[in-house]
Amino acid sequence: MAEDTSLEDFLDAGDESEDEGESGTSAEDDTTEAGSEAPDAEATTDAVDPAVTTYAWSPEGAACAECGEVVERRWTQDGLLVCGACKCW
Ligand SMILES: [Zn+2]
Repeated sequence: MAEDTSLEDFLDAGDESEDEGESGTSAEDDTTEAGSEAPDAEATTDAVDPAVTTYAWSPEGAACAECGEVVERRWTQDGLLVCGACKCW
Protein backbone atom coordinates (compact mmCIF):
# COMPACT_ATOMS: atom_id res chain seq x y z
CA MET A 1 0.00 0.00 0.00
CA ALA A 2 2.66 2.41 1.10
CA GLU A 3 4.85 1.21 -1.73
CA ASP A 4 2.30 2.20 -4.30
CA THR A 5 2.16 5.72 -2.98
CA SER A 6 5.90 6.14 -2.78
CA LEU A 7 6.32 4.67 -6.24
CA GLU A 8 4.00 7.25 -7.71
CA ASP A 9 5.73 9.96 -5.74
CA PHE A 10 9.06 8.71 -6.96
CA LEU A 11 8.00 8.68 -10.59
CA ASP A 12 6.46 12.10 -10.28
CA ALA A 13 9.52 13.60 -8.59
CA GLY A 14 11.92 11.76 -10.87
CA ASP A 15 10.32 13.41 -13.85
CA GLU A 16 10.91 16.87 -12.49
CA SER A 17 14.26 16.57 -10.75
CA GLU A 18 16.11 14.31 -13.11
CA ASP A 19 19.32 16.23 -12.75
CA GLU A 20 19.30 16.18 -8.93
CA GLY A 21 19.18 19.34 -6.89
CA GLU A 22 15.65 20.70 -6.82
CA SER A 23 16.55 24.37 -6.42
CA GLY A 24 18.86 24.24 -9.42
CA THR A 25 16.26 22.43 -11.46
CA SER A 26 13.54 24.95 -10.78
CA ALA A 27 15.83 27.82 -11.70
CA GLU A 28 16.80 26.09 -14.92
CA ASP A 29 13.16 25.34 -15.56
CA ASP A 30 12.29 29.01 -15.39
CA THR A 31 15.00 29.97 -17.81
CA THR A 32 14.19 27.18 -20.20
CA GLU A 33 10.50 27.95 -20.19
CA ALA A 34 10.99 31.65 -20.79
CA GLY A 35 13.55 31.01 -23.48
CA SER A 36 11.44 28.49 -25.34
CA GLU A 37 8.24 30.41 -24.87
CA ALA A 38 9.31 33.55 -26.71
CA PRO A 39 10.16 31.98 -30.09
CA ASP A 40 7.30 29.53 -29.75
CA ALA A 41 4.73 32.26 -29.15
CA GLU A 42 6.16 34.28 -32.00
CA ALA A 43 5.90 31.37 -34.38
CA THR A 44 2.35 30.64 -33.31
CA THR A 45 1.31 34.24 -33.68
CA ASP A 46 2.96 34.47 -37.06
CA ALA A 47 1.11 31.45 -38.34
CA VAL A 48 -2.28 32.10 -36.78
CA ASP A 49 -2.66 35.85 -36.60
CA PRO A 50 -2.94 36.69 -40.32
CA ALA A 51 -5.21 33.74 -40.97
CA VAL A 52 -7.59 34.56 -38.15
CA THR A 53 -7.72 38.32 -38.31
CA THR A 54 -7.59 38.69 -42.06
CA TYR A 55 -10.05 36.08 -43.17
CA ALA A 56 -12.15 33.20 -41.95
CA TRP A 57 -12.15 29.87 -43.66
CA SER A 58 -15.19 27.62 -43.52
CA PRO A 59 -14.71 24.18 -45.09
CA GLU A 60 -18.43 23.84 -45.70
CA GLY A 61 -18.82 27.40 -46.89
CA ALA A 62 -20.50 30.33 -45.23
CA ALA A 63 -22.67 33.16 -46.49
CA CYS A 64 -21.09 36.48 -47.30
CA ALA A 65 -22.44 39.25 -45.09
CA GLU A 66 -22.79 41.57 -48.09
CA CYS A 67 -24.13 39.55 -51.02
CA GLY A 68 -25.04 36.31 -49.29
CA GLU A 69 -22.97 34.16 -51.58
CA VAL A 70 -21.71 31.01 -49.89
CA VAL A 71 -17.98 30.90 -50.04
CA GLU A 72 -15.28 28.97 -48.21
CA ARG A 73 -13.13 31.99 -47.53
CA ARG A 74 -14.44 35.27 -46.19
CA TRP A 75 -12.53 38.34 -45.27
CA THR A 76 -13.12 40.67 -42.36
CA GLN A 77 -14.39 44.09 -43.40
CA ASP A 78 -15.96 46.56 -40.99
CA GLY A 79 -16.54 43.72 -38.56
CA LEU A 80 -18.37 41.65 -41.18
CA LEU A 81 -17.24 38.58 -43.02
CA VAL A 82 -17.55 39.19 -46.73
CA CYS A 83 -16.55 37.23 -49.80
CA GLY A 84 -13.60 38.13 -51.99
CA ALA A 85 -15.85 39.98 -54.46
CA CYS A 86 -17.30 42.25 -51.76
CA LYS A 87 -14.05 42.85 -49.97
CA CYS A 88 -12.50 46.23 -50.75
CA TRP A 89 -8.90 45.43 -51.50
ZN1 LIG B 1 -20.04 38.98 -51.12
